Amino acid sequence: MESPSPRPPRSGLAAIALATVAGVISAPSANAQVFLDVYARAQPVITNMVEAYGGADTITAINTVHFKENNTIFQRYQSRRLGPPFDTVPTTTELAYDKATGNFYAAFGGQFPVRQIVNGEESIQIDLTRMVSFPPPAPIDPNTHFIHRVVPALLAARIYQRAQNVTWAGQSRINDRTHDVLSVAWDNGQVYMVHVDSETGLIRRYDILFPDFVVGDALAESYFEDYKDIEGIPTPQRRWQRMAGQKTFDAKLVEISYNGDVSGMFELPADVPAIDPAPPPEQKLRELAEGVWIGNGPYQNLYVDMGEYLVSVDAGGGTAAIEGELGQLDELTGGKPLKYSVITHHHSDHTNGVDALAATGSTLLADASIHNYLAGIVRDRHFAGANTTHAAPAEPRLTALKEKQVIEDGDRRIEIYRVPNAHAEDYYVVYLPAEKILYGADVFNFPPTGPIPPANENFVTFWQNFVPLGLQVETVANAHGRLGTWDELEARARTQVAAN
Ligand SMILES: [Zn+2]
Repeated sequence: MESPSPRPPRSGLAAIALATVAGVISAPSANAQVFLDVYARAQPVITNMVEAYGGADTITAINTVHFKENNTIFQRYQSRRLGPPFDTVPTTTELAYDKATGNFYAAFGGQFPVRQIVNGEESIQIDLTRMVSFPPPAPIDPNTHFIHRVVPALLAARIYQRAQNVTWAGQSRINDRTHDVLSVAWDNGQVYMVHVDSETGLIRRYDILFPDFVVGDALAESYFEDYKDIEGIPTPQRRWQRMAGQKTFDAKLVEISYNGDVSGMFELPADVPAIDPAPPPEQKLRELAEGVWIGNGPYQNLYVDMGEYLVSVDAGGGTAAIEGELGQLDELTGGKPLKYSVITHHHSDHTNGVDALAATGSTLLADASIHNYLAGIVRDRHFAGANTTHAAPAEPRLTALKEKQVIEDGDRRIEIYRVPNAHAEDYYVVYLPAEKILYGADVFNFPPTGPIPPANENFVTFWQNFVPLGLQVETVANAHGRLGTWDELEARARTQVAAN
């Protein structure tokens, strides 16, 4: 075995000298030499990049940043139609960061505006629709937060500080310009491929690999454009992103300041009531009525025992979660087979585990417009990563849902209704008349804790088409959030009337 790969020196000039000695230009003949070359080759690229952003002293002396931008989000597999083109929503981002204290502020506008503040030991998230606060669902670490990747000077500082662990991964052509690609491991272990303009030293793009629920392993690309000098620091006026080749995000910088006084932004508001966060869910099916179960957690699928066989509704939570639920059903029902799997609508969080359902031989009942898409997930998706699971590729059985579809066996009856609304065009609810249970996704969710938000456009358009069906409902079961009652659903409908 070779000894561990040598660590290249920090200085760019020395690195070039070392690279020349090691013979970068000629073909490497030993592994050790390959390692040496890729580390050494990264150093002059880093040196050029650091100079482009004003030098090492400048970028390491950025102590605070205040940043505002206007964003367009392209709702990839969360649009009304399957798409593309995807629906767009305008939103805003405001960030503030103080390196010395680690204090941090983030405000996101759009449909579900939230604010996050980290102030010393305390961190809160504020839901601005309901005006309640609670601890953030996951800890916010200012040191790894994405502000370091939306402000290229901060990204350059990170790369500079870990220069000895950065490798050169080759060159790319973007807009007819040559870029050197650096492979940079982030604090969380994620590897970033950073494209640095070989001439100007400016960061043009970075990529990560991510597990995409439609195609499997895929590239997420982030681009920086329209650089302008702001307080001596090259700063892009635009950034945009693409996932698996589809545009998902476009942002225009509104304002940015470096090293200003941002201390006032980290004050925790005193007038927003705190609610208890939802307890971590047990991954265990809950029985809603005899032979009717619903999942428990952020993605809640429904299962119904028909006597001889089972019917499932929705495929949220991913392959492993669905396999876990099918395992529980095996025990609960003595191994009854899954015969039909209803899909309420195409959105990613209701279809990403559809491969696990199809693998059982179950027939997928879904709007005809999304059959090819579902078949693609079942047949073509591939993950190489150890942390992502998928069922063996299969050719799924698919049947188109009608406007009203009934599955009936013995005493059990399931009715499925198409209910057009602004959330998704291919949208169905499931109704169990004997049990008076209504199951639906997204349109009438109740949050896990705290007050129910007022009716939005999705709810109002749903309600207009749902009420005429005249269904007798007692229990309202949701794909997300807590269970509710018919009275709560009607109360939510009245909030819209009141708002008008
Ligand atoms: Zn949805």
